[in-house]
Amino acid sequence: MKKGIAVIGATGSIGKQTVRLLSSTFSNQYKTIGLTSNNNIKNLFAHGDSLNSEKMIVANPSSVAFPTLQQTNSKILSGKEYINDLVQEESVDLVVMAIPGTAAIEATYLALKAGKVVALANKESIVAAGELMLKAEKQYGGKIIPIDSEHNSIFRLLNNSRESKNIAKLTITASGGPFLGKKIHELQNVTPKEALNHPSWSMGPLVSINSATLMNKGLEIIEASILFGMPIEKIDSVIHPESKIHAMVHWKDGASSMLVNPPRMSYAINHALSYPEYPRLISTLKDTSFEGGFKLHKLDEKLYPCYKLAKEAGLEENGHPIVLNASNEIAVSNFLEGKIKFTQIPKVIEKTLIGMTSKNPKDINEVLMIDNESRLFASDLIKTKKI
Ligand code: NDP
Repeated sequence: MKKGIAVIGATGSIGKQTVRLLSSTFSNQYKTIGLTSNNNIKNLFAHGDSLNSEKMIVANPSSVAFPTLQQTNSKILSGKEYINDLVQEESVDLVVMAIPGTAAIEATYLALKAGKVVALANKESIVAAGELMLKAEKQYGGKIIPIDSEHNSIFRLLNNSRESKNIAKLTITASGGPFLGKKIHELQNVTPKEALNHPSWSMGPLVSINSATLMNKGLEIIEASILFGMPIEKIDSVIHPESKIHAMVHWKDGASSMLVNPPRMSYAINHALSYPEYPRLISTLKDTSFEGGFKLHKLDEKLYPCYKLAKEAGLEENGHPIVLNASNEIAVSNFLEGKIKFTQIPKVIEKTLIGMTSKNPKDINEVLMIDNESRLFASDLIKTKKI
């Protein structure tokens, strides 16, 4: 029997790659219950019709002009509350969570509370609300399968588990982004276009800028620490510009394992769609000699203030990762709109972390409250030019 799937963020980079696999390699395995987008109706309709999706949901109601909608057999809905309903539907077995930022927190939590398997690309929901997500996973019998490539690699290296009892240390790799090799003073006037131009990965705007500042790697260290139950101090990151090695597990006996595949998210998505079976063949191996080896360099934290701030926030309690993440999202969107410089992104985050007093959240509502207050604080810093 086919499993039911919902793809949240079907029109984005991860979402489109998922849709591609669903309409090819996995066409006989899944029935598409729902696809969602934020504003992009055109692509949503194209994907939804190709997969015969029961529902298509546009999160932002102002994007939908119902009288002008084209003909489709799917049910069209608009509003984020319908996404929250979709992830809990009985016919949905697997939720692919591929929307960026804290917008994913509520739906991810509700999916886990409904006992669903969640293929999780969104790292921010773990960074901001990881303990609550893991608690819901355990209590209601759901399962998180990480599809962030580094975390998916660790999960695979642990034979589809998140059990860390035999691990001494974890290493995740960072490509270094488009400004690898540059000094901080050379980044004063970089444009959004330059910062979005990632050398090895094709990703949405938030994660692309996070890769350029290396905030992405900082968030991933927090994510790995929560998902695999490892202290932050035992997780490090190395620069690996080719992005072929994604993660290394260093075992307690002194040996290490690593996972290597080309820098394409289809490997991790394929793994999650195949789970618990062995991943399907999506690419034939062309080069297994790895002649010339792999280039790995030490990551100099002084060059990447966002990475350093993230690691520090991960070590703190009192909701610091939520504040970090929310202020980063505000800073990134202001940078993309040309309102602040690239080098001001860490300043916004640092000042918000210093200025906000927060406590450890007891539930998802408190997470969302801290997130919202941090956004307001960071926005005000920018508006009043206090950075
Ligand atoms: P994109 O920006 O490419 O796509 C985002 C998707 O989510 C789109 O479908 C978009 O709709 C929708 N969306 C955006 N904002 C909202 C919102 N507020 N409410 C509901 N839907 C929304 O993102 P990516 O695919 O690059 O990334 C998705 C997540 O996966 C991120 O958390 C990222 O960190 C993570 N990730 C991504 C990787 C990649 O290679 N892209 C690698 C590893 C992790 P619309 O098209 O209408 O805007």
